[in-house]
Amino acid sequence: MSDCIFCRIISGEAPGDILYQDEQITAFRDIHPVAPVHVLIVPNRHIASVNDLEAEDELLLGRMFTLARKLAEQEGIRDSGYRLIINTGAHGGQVVYHLHLHLIGGQRMRHPMG
Ligand code: 5GP
Ligand code: ZN
Repeated sequence: MSDCIFCRIISGEAPGDILYQDEQITAFRDIHPVAPVHVLIVPNRHIASVNDLEAEDELLLGRMFTLARKLAEQEGIRDSGYRLIINTGAHGGQVVYHLHLHLIGGQRMRHPMG
């Protein structure tokens, strides 16, 4: 998916502030952070959204959450708390159609859900 910005960051074709990468997952800082810590955790394989997940992806999703916990510790927001968000589709506010888990923290969240 050479037209996908996240695929290009994962492959190194496009610049990204990468915090973690293995054979399945990459984590990099959001280019427009909404809080002091704003990291995107993405599968290396192009999966457009939650709507495209299959049962075989369950282990991958679990690993994305475990990485979120590790990065929260690394970024010093484990105990203060944080939000994990996956926007899906138009009403969910999804802009980039490569599945990503937002890890957001470092300040108290002001906006309620919805
Ligand atoms: P969504 O609204 O799809 O859940 O979130 C997409 C996120 O990707 C946004 O927070 C946006 O700032 C971020 N983003 C968009 N383009 C880039 C980019 O080229 N590099 C990085 N690091 N983040 C991006
Ligand atoms: Zn992609």
